Amino acid sequence: MHDPGTSSDLRRISAPRIPSRVVGMMSPNDRAADAASTRPAPAVPPGEHGRGGPGRSGESAPRAKRPERPQAVLEVIDRTRLSPSLLRISLGGPGIADLSCNDATDRYVKLLLPDPASGLTPPYDMEALRRERPEDLPRIRTYTVRHWDTAAQRLDIDVVLHGDGELEGVAATWADSALPGDRVALRGAGGAYSPDPAAAQHLFIGDHSALPAIAAALEALPEDARGRAVIQLEHEGDRLHLTAPDGVRIQYLIGARELLLETAASLEIEDPSALDAFVHGERGIIKQLRRILVVDKGIPRDRLSISAYWALGRVEDRFQAEKREPIGRIDE
Ligand SMILES: Cc1cc2nc3c(=O)[nH]c(=O)nc-3n(C[C@H](O)[C@H](O)[C@H](O)COP(=O)(O)OP(=O)(O)OC[C@H]3O[C@@H](n4cnc5c(N)ncnc54)[C@H](O)[C@@H]3O)c2cc1C
Repeated sequence: MHDPGTSSDLRRISAPRIPSRVVGMMSPNDRAADAASTRPAPAVPPGEHGRGGPGRSGESAPRAKRPERPQAVLEVIDRTRLSPSLLRISLGGPGIADLSCNDATDRYVKLLLPDPASGLTPPYDMEALRRERPEDLPRIRTYTVRHWDTAAQRLDIDVVLHGDGELEGVAATWADSALPGDRVALRGAGGAYSPDPAAAQHLFIGDHSALPAIAAALEALPEDARGRAVIQLEHEGDRLHLTAPDGVRIQYLIGARELLLETAASLEIEDPSALDAFVHGERGIIKQLRRILVVDKGIPRDRLSISAYWALGRVEDRFQAEKREPIGRIDE
């Protein structure tokens, strides 16, 4: 099946809102009053998800075939264990110039991860592989860029090491065994959400996979921001200390992902139109959260960045393909 002898033929050179007003949310004791303001234009054009992305209009429209995006090839610089199930992979090198940076706090890259047994080395000629060795096509996996330092030619992604007792997933396994000097191809960056600095209240809801994007958004909030972040983790030991303004309460829920539903259902939101919400995680949970937040709580869709980051029981390739079909939509 694999033919390392022909792999060099398949290589290629890398080519390179709405006015806010007084809002009360959270608990009855935690009501806030802030002055009216108007939402500025988004810092970046809409990407594949987030406010203006699939959480809004992007998931419903059929997509035209896009030209192949350029690949950047970076080296693994460092590997840092942030908690038992979260591994930071620092990537770097001059190849970072082949990525397009943006200012979204949920900006993300797509890693191209072939089976090591294929003998392929980055960058990859995806067209030729699709034609001649489709079984060797690299798997594509999406990760939030937690830090991006163009001058230092370095970016960090934080990878959840998931699995029921045993590590599973192409990307999680790659991260777990990545060594300094390993080369990896990636594309990007996408991203569409940044917190609205003028919002009266902020709400962040997510599971472990969304923790990096929530952490980046919390750091970007103005000092006087108010709100709440609710993050579900499977294990107590995976709590991280996150930096956020004093007015933003961070709550970890340890246990099943369904805990997010109970918490969302118990939220009291006085003025949903003045809220800025970022909600991402497992597809089935996100679908239910969307109903709670939009239908039950009345949050207008344009105040909500919501999308599935992964789907239980499906590898990312399958899940991303489903997103383009009616079955994969979270807004049905
Ligand atoms: C825009 C965006 C940003 C993302 N940012 C991050 C990020 O910063 N950090 C991060 O860790 N993930 C992030 N994700 C989610 C990540 O892309 C998926 O979890 C991906 O499926 C992981 O790939 P894998 O190869 O490890 O597992 P896959 O091969 O895709 O899946 C193998 C199995 O593992 C299950 N699985 C996949 N992910 C998880 C998970 N998180 N927890 C439990 N089971 C899982 C699947 O259901 C499947 O059964 C992001 C996704 C998107 C769309």
